[in-house]
This record gives sequence, structure tokens and C-alpha cells, in this order.
Amino acid sequence: MFACAGCGAVLTVPVSRVALPVHAGQLYGHDLLGPLMEPGTYAVNPEPFGPPWRTWDEVGAAEAQARGWYAPAHLLPGGPRGAVVIAPGDVRGTVFIPGCSAGYCCGLDGRDGPNLACERCGREVATRIDDCSYWQAVWLHPPAVHRLAGADGPPAVTSWEALPAQRPVLPPIHPDGWWNPIWAAAVAAALADLLAETDGTPVTVPDGPVADVFRRSIETLLPAGTPARTLAVAGPGLPDVTADLVLVPRHPQNGELWPAPGAVPLAYDVWRHLAFHRERRPVPGAGAMPDEARRDDPPPRQPPGPFRPDWGIFVATLARRPEVRRPWLRRLHDRVRSRPYREPF
Ligand SMILES: [Zn+2]
Ligand SMILES: [Zn+2]
Repeated sequence: MFACAGCGAVLTVPVSRVALPVHAGQLYGHDLLGPLMEPGTYAVNPEPFGPPWRTWDEVGAAEAQARGWYAPAHLLPGGPRGAVVIAPGDVRGTVFIPGCSAGYCCGLDGRDGPNLACERCGREVATRIDDCSYWQAVWLHPPAVHRLAGADGPPAVTSWEALPAQRPVLPPIHPDGWWNPIWAAAVAAALADLLAETDGTPVTVPDGPVADVFRRSIETLLPAGTPARTLAVAGPGLPDVTADLVLVPRHPQNGELWPAPGAVPLAYDVWRHLAFHRERRPVPGAGAMPDEARRDDPPPRQPPGPFRPDWGIFVATLARRPEVRRPWLRRLHDRVRSRPYREPF
């Protein structure tokens, strides 16, 4: 649990630490999104979070690099590192601070810093974010809270083998027929990491589920031709593969990567689907479904267009890779950053 550093009041339910989700910094569409964190969990942001916001020019390249940014960004957060993020439903004993309701549209975006105070002593303790386009979350303000050790100690890390039974299935397409935004974030981050592992040389993607979400982006961002490096999926439960680059899972609890040469990290739930799910699409056959049944149980809707990785996550991930200082990758970064809606984004 986390408690107020001023008066000791408990501010959360008991929570267990997990890795920071890949879509933590995502802005998506103009919908109210769900909670970023699963109930009963928390994650720690190792990077500065929240205001004061400073422009790239104010910060300067040297200081930005010390903070882990190797290519220009519009605004850099200057708030404290180590912000703890939890689901809004796991917060206890806080009240909104009158007047701290900055948001763009349908809710709070937290741009001005803490907007929740400790109910008992009034100390500013957390920032609630629930505006449209943001994953809903409460970020605890590091200097205002402290962690209370659980009675049982931290829970054991689930083995790779036991993970599938514990994780929700995360299909790439929502029942409403749109691509899943978490997939857009996860693939965008992996794509940036993949580019950083290449020297701008061709990469080929074999037919199958990986090609469905990676091939178009790779063909748009990297040249075609030979020799080309190969990309495959590797990890727990899969036979050994020989490929130059391998998509490996990031453990959802401790963030560790499945070790492999040429590893490109991918969020576990997305990796699992690419590794094990075999699409079985309904095909018309003899004795076709009667019209009434088709009307009441239509086949799942298909997305209206090709898969698009998340532009913002791609640019932000690339800007935090030291490899972006190589001229070819910096040119690619700058080109993508200046044109948000160009192919493949
Ligand atoms: Zn307090
Ligand atoms: Zn809105």
C-alpha cells in the first residue's frame, strides 16, 4: 500500500508491482479509454513525470541526453522520477483539489501536476488523468507518498510457463472491428527497437501473423532488397529459430526480456498472440448458415484499414534509443516526427 508522507493516511488498496505497460504514454483517438493498470497492481515510471514542462531548446541537447532523450521532442517533463501509477479504482482517502481541473476536453489531463489531495491533511498527493485519448490512471506524486511493505512480502514472479494461464487474451482486433490500441502501442515500440538494431538495411518478414502487423511498416521505413535480415518470433514454448532478429516477450511483472541474440522486445500479451494464435477464419461451405442465424450471429467485423502502429509511441521510443544519433536513423526519426499521419502510421 502507499500512504501519505504528511500524515500517514493510507491512500491505496494493497497493490503488487508489475512492469510499466508499453501504452503508458499513449494518446489514442478521441474516446474515453479504460484504466491503464489492472486492478491491484502498480508500476513505477523511471523517467521524469509531469510538470514543470520545458521545451527542447530550454533543456539543451546535453541535459536532455542525460535524461535519456537522444533526439528532439516538443516538451520534456521535468517532474520527479519514480512516479507510481495505479488504477483510479485502487485509490483511497483522496479528494479533488478545487481549481486543479486542467483538461482538454472530456476530463482531467494532469498537465498542471497534482489534482488530488490527501483527505485527512490536504497534502497534494497524486495526479488523476482521465481525459479522452488518455488511459485512465492515478499517478502518485513521489515526494508526497511512501510505500508500506506488505505483510506477506512481494508476490513471487510467475514463471514464463505459468504466465499464459494468468494473462488475459488480447486479440489484435476489438469486437467493434477496430484495431486494438494496445497492439498499436506495442508494435510501435517494437518497431522502433527493431530499427535501432539494424543499420538501415532490409529486413524480411515471413508470411503469417507477424507480417500482418509488422510487414507494411518495415517495408515503408526500410529499403527492400538483398541481403536482408530475417525476423521471427522466439521465446518460451517455441522451438528454436534461426533468424537475425527475434521478437521476444517482455515479462509483464518484472519487465525482464526473454534472452536471445538479436532480441527485439515486445509486450507479452501481444507476443503471446503472435507466437501461438492461429487465425481460423470462417469460410462459406455446404449447408450454409440460414439468414436468420446470420442476422443474429454475424461474423466478427474486420478493421476498415491496414494495421497502423502508434505514431507517438514510435517517435518517443526511438528518441530514447542512443542509436537514434546515427545519421540515417535520425533522418528517419525527423521525417516521421514531422509527418504524423503518413504511412505506415
Ligand atoms: Zn495526509
Ligand atoms: Zn473529448
